[in-house]
This record gives sequence, C-alpha cells and structure tokens, in this order.
Amino acid sequence: MAIQLHSEHKYMTVPPKTFPLNSPLYLKFTSTSSISPRLSVFSISLKKLEMGLVSSLRFRRRNNKTFLRIFMILVLSCIPGRTNLCSNHSVSTPIDLPPGNPSDIRSLLDSLDLEGYISFDDVHNAAKDFGNRYQLPPLAILHPRSVSDISSMMKHIVHLGSTSNLTVAARGHGHSLQGQALAHQGVVINMESLRSPDIKIYKGQQPYVDVSGGELWINILRETLKSGLSPKSWTDYLHLTVGGTLSNAGISGQAFKHGPQINNVYQLEIVTGKGEVVTCSEKRNSELFYSVLGGLGQFGIITRARIALRPAPHMVKWIRVLYSDFSAFSRDQEHLISKENTFDYVEGFVIINRTDLLNNWRSSFSPNDSTQASQFKSDGKTLYCLEVAKYFIPEEANSMNQETEKLLSELNYIPSTLFSSEVPYIEFLDRVHIAERKLRAKGLWEVPHPWLNLLIPKSRIFDFATEVFNNILTSNSNGPILIYPVNQSKWNKRTSLITPNEDILYLVAFLPSAVPNSSGKNDLEYLLKQNQRVLSFCAAENINVKQYLPHYETQTEWKSHFGDRWETFAKRKYAYDPLAILAPGQRIFQKATHLSPIQLL
Ligand code: FAD
Repeated sequence: MAIQLHSEHKYMTVPPKTFPLNSPLYLKFTSTSSISPRLSVFSISLKKLEMGLVSSLRFRRRNNKTFLRIFMILVLSCIPGRTNLCSNHSVSTPIDLPPGNPSDIRSLLDSLDLEGYISFDDVHNAAKDFGNRYQLPPLAILHPRSVSDISSMMKHIVHLGSTSNLTVAARGHGHSLQGQALAHQGVVINMESLRSPDIKIYKGQQPYVDVSGGELWINILRETLKSGLSPKSWTDYLHLTVGGTLSNAGISGQAFKHGPQINNVYQLEIVTGKGEVVTCSEKRNSELFYSVLGGLGQFGIITRARIALRPAPHMVKWIRVLYSDFSAFSRDQEHLISKENTFDYVEGFVIINRTDLLNNWRSSFSPNDSTQASQFKSDGKTLYCLEVAKYFIPEEANSMNQETEKLLSELNYIPSTLFSSEVPYIEFLDRVHIAERKLRAKGLWEVPHPWLNLLIPKSRIFDFATEVFNNILTSNSNGPILIYPVNQSKWNKRTSLITPNEDILYLVAFLPSAVPNSSGKNDLEYLLKQNQRVLSFCAAENINVKQYLPHYETQTEWKSHFGDRWETFAKRKYAYDPLAILAPGQRIFQKATHLSPIQLL
C-alpha cells in the first residue's frame, strides 16, 4: 500500500486506548442454544464425552446441520477452563491479570529451559503496533532461538491451563492496525528472533524457498534474487513477516494473476495452541494447513514456510494513467485482469480534490507527451489512477514495449495523462519503503493509522464508488485510497480467508494518517467516523462487503463476518487451540479463566 507524505502537519502522540488492569473478567455464555457452559464443573471427563459424541456422530453418519450445531455447542461448552468460545462479550471487556502473584508467573516462565530468552522489562515496544491506537503491554516477551522454544512455552501455558490468564501472541513486524499482534499481560513471541532455518532456496522445475515464519519479505526477496528467483505474489510493503501476512492473505497488484500470498505456499511448520509441532501441506495435515492460511493467528504459530518461486525479472516498466469516469476506469481494470497476456501488476487509486497532481509525479515518472501533460488540470475533480507494471529483462525490452503499447491501446484513459518509468525489480517492489524512510525522518511514521480495508463484490462497486468517492469523502489529502480488482476464481477457497462470494472482487483500502490534536479532516475521530459512514452505507445498501485485516468488537460481529463458515472456524479453534491461548488481540475468542479447574486433553 502506498504511503503519502504529510509534510505540512505537525504530528503529536495520541493517547492510546488502555484497559484497566485487575478488573473483573465477565464471562457470559450466549450461544444459539441455552445449554449451560458449565458442564466442566461436573466431573464429566471431556475425553469420554468427546468419544461418546464422536461415536454417536459416526453412528448417525448424516451431515445434519442441526445435529452438528448441537455437537459444536456441547463440545465448545465443555472446553477445559471454560474457554469462552461462544460468548457475545464485547471484546474490549477488560481482562484481569493472571491470578496469584505475578512474580510466581514470572518465575514459572523463567524456569523454562530455552535456547533463547524471556524478557520481562522493556516490554513497551510490544505494547503497540503500526495502527498506534492501542497500548496493551504484555507480561513478557519470548525471544525464541528455536521452534522448540516456542513449543515449550506453549506447552507450559497449556499446562497452567485456566489457573492463569496467560495468552500468547506471535508478533511478526507488529504492523497490524488494531492491536491484533498484542497480548495484554500475556506473552508476546518476537518472531523475528527465530532465525532458523536460514533462508534455503531449491531450484528446479518448481522452485521454492524455505524460510522462518518471522522472516521479513524484503530479506526473502534479496536472498532469492541472488539465485535469479523471486516469490510470485507480494504485499505493497515488504517489511512485514511471512507469518504476519500469511495469517491474513497478502494481497497486492499480482494477486489477480497468482492469487494472494496464501495461494503460493507449499508447506508450513506450525506450533499449535497445544504446543505440538506439526508439518502440514495440501496433502499432509491439510485441515491445519488451510486453517492457518488466512487464519488470523488463531490455530497455531507459523514457524516455517515453503514459498513458491518463479524466475525473477530485472526491470519493471511502471505506468500510470488517469480517468475522470469511474466506469471507464473499472472497465479497463477488469479488462486487464481478464486477459491471459497482460500486465504483471494491476492496481489503482483514487484522487479526490487534489491540485498539481501531475507535477508531483514528474519526480519519478516521465510524461509520454510533456506538452499535453502540462496542459492537464486536475483541480478539484475526483480522478482514478490506473497503475500497471510489466516485468522484463533488458534483452526483451523491445518486445516488452510492443506488448505494453498494445495493452495501452485497448484502454480508455485521458491521453495526456500517460506517465511511465523504468526501475529495477527490487526498487519497484520495495517502493513503499522509500516513502517510509522520508516519513520516519520527519517523525511522521509513528502516528495513528485508522485504516480500513474492504473487499467489495464487483456487482456493487459502482454503487460504492459513486457514494463514497463523491459524497462521503471530500478529500484524501491525509493518505491514499487504493482500489483494484482481483480474480477470485483463481484463489484457493479452502483457506480461512473470508471474501464476498463473487468471482471478481475489488480491494478498496483507505489508508489515512491521523494528525493528533488537529481538528477537521485529519483528526483521528473524524477519520474513524468517516470509516463508520462508509461501513454504514454498505450495510444500509446491502452491499456484501467483507473487511480485509478485519477488526470487530464483539463475537456477534465476528460471527456475521464469518457467516456460514463460523462453525467450521470455531470447530478448528477447538481442535488446534482449545484453551484459546493464541492471538488474543484479534478479539475473536477469549481465554479460559481461573474460575474452574483445568482438564487437560
Ligand atoms: P503482525 O502485525 O506482527 O501480526 C499480525 C497477526 O498475525 C497477529 O494476529 C499475529 O499474532 C499473527 N502472527 C504474526 N506472526 C505470526 C506467525 N508466525 N504465526 C502465526 N500468527 C502470526 N497487507 C496486504 O495484504 N497487502 C498490502 O499491500 C499491505 N500493505 C501494508 C503496508 C503497510 C505500510 C502496513 C503497515 C501494512 C500493510 N499490509 C498489507 C497489512 C499487513 O499485511 C498486515 O498488517 C500483516 O499482519 C503485518 O505483518 P506483520 O509481520 O507486521 O504481522
């Protein structure tokens, strides 16, 4: 996602959301059934109950939905320590500290035999994320040196069971937006410390690279380029970890062709919520494999991934053209993603109420016709920029130029607005980092980011664009708005990623930076309300949008996000993380309390 400079503003720190410590934990069981959650207080062995239910299930051998629902409710309600898998609590409900003396917990964690180490001081960095709106300090940070460090920690916490409220968040690069990688008073695992295995490349018919789950994509790119290879699918920004993006999807301008990053993984190594180390792939432990991909960190910690590679190009022809008519813009985008021989990257963005736009581009792009370009006036209009790229090696520059010209001749952009540039492949892929460096130098990187990412079905994109870009938003001077279609029919449907049910979807990403203590359109509250207006419009108009990088406050909202896939998601949670220890910052499930004794599976 492109980042924009806001040089004229002075940013200040905004008071982050904090939750009081030592406040009571409320557990309320309000599932679709009235069956009590407290079966665990009776001395029923969970294992026996499970076995009975499973054999009864076998006996029935019917895919009866009602029966499945009752089964789920019974099983979920029997989870040791009353894991609140089916509560309707507001997930912002304050969570209390682990019971007993925190120093006991510290010494318990300290007693672990690790190759890495645990730190109890200096936890403030793991208390926030890129979104910069939540401040939730963990109790400790694990800096693992090996997979067994992570497994030992998980097993230890499973063993403590409901006698502690300890949760665990794998933290990649902490570039989440709403506290998804935080674990309030729990253990944050600093995945970037996990340096093994080294990045290992395998050439051949189907080349791939084995990497640690804590590896940054930029490092993988640098390393694979040495062998003339590269991953196929990217995010716009590469200083994110493999585990972080595979827990979501990893979508960028290549996703229409290769699918998101979760479509380009051959194998994973996972430490589950029970502490087990499991290798999985499409053929081996496939249920876990697909659960974890797009699984929001709920089922296990990705410690290793095998990523598909392709031959790397050397150079990229990078092109921008403008439209004033949304229909023409989206028609051309859809035309490009439907073709077999097309660009390698297709994205786009919206420009609302900006002046001097083309002059800004001149620093990195050259106009095709500078006289015509200088006559173009963007003042005040809502414009749509199509951004495309063609990869090439220098020996093929001529044929690449011919193909590019042919593709451009099929489009209906404003002729005077054709701009292009040729850059090395790595510079193109790492483009947002250049903006990051500039923002950091000005102290403008660590400000609140009230971002909103939506997946919108093609059938409603025109309604969405007409209202949102013309009425709800009156400017986008505080950050870019990306918009581009992807062809979901090429995506694997077995992952945990939730998308609207249409072949072509648009990713629309509102990426503003808030200016603390400002009033008006750059203020955090204003931007949050604007996001809410967009969501309310979609709800009122029955536009079946799905949030990408989703964030919800209640489990009812999560259930609606998952729709008919909720039961499967909850069932998988029970299978792989029955105490709901993992990724508490997603606020989907709540960890067991210390109120009832633990029965280990
Ligand atoms: P974190 O924020 O550290 O973690 C995210 C979630 O994954 C947390 O729940 C965490 O517990 C879990 N997690 C982390 N590591 C693991 C692991 N090893 N195993 C299991 N769970 C784990 N996304 C796109 O798809 N396309 C884009 O173009 C794009 N551009 C971005 C640009 C910027 C500047 C930023 C800040 C974000 C962008 N994102 C984009 C979003 C990004 O992909 C997600 O926020 C991603 O989660 C960040 O990765 P991370 O390593 O920082 O993960």
